[in-house]
Amino acid sequence: MHCPFCSAEDTKVIDSRLVTGGDQVRRRRECLTCGDRFTTFEVAELVMPRIIKRDGSREPFNEDKLRAGLQRALEKRPVSVEAIEAAVNQVKHGLRTQGDREVSARLLGEQVMEVLRGLDAVAYVRFASVYRDFQDVSEFQDEIARLSNPSGTDAPAERG
Ligand SMILES: [Zn+2]
Repeated sequence: MHCPFCSAEDTKVIDSRLVTGGDQVRRRRECLTCGDRFTTFEVAELVMPRIIKRDGSREPFNEDKLRAGLQRALEKRPVSVEAIEAAVNQVKHGLRTQGDREVSARLLGEQVMEVLRGLDAVAYVRFASVYRDFQDVSEFQDEIARLSNPSGTDAPAERG
């Protein structure tokens, strides 16, 4: 990287070490032109993608909103705070690994459902019923049938 003092292009790393428990790399650099030294810190980029809402507008990813949604679905369920935090991190991890700068609210919802499905069946159905906006009771029953039989091999044939 360029020298901040003389803007020369060539600087060399003279020391490199992990700091803050391994979350950062601290590098000591020396300018090959003016000989001045400076320090850089390198951290992993943890920027979350923006969320594309149904109406096409964008909003920043909101971790508090995600947590609140999970807590609402998990209300009075035997699921620990730690497990909820793990679920929040799992969803965030899922969004980040998409590698996209923007993801649809739909995809976010699907991720949350995926995580809830593994966590608590009741919470999953609660969330899915609100999120998928089930049109009628039979649709809701289909979802519950799918839950008790995830492979879907002998799901009810008739529908709608
Ligand atoms: Zn320099």
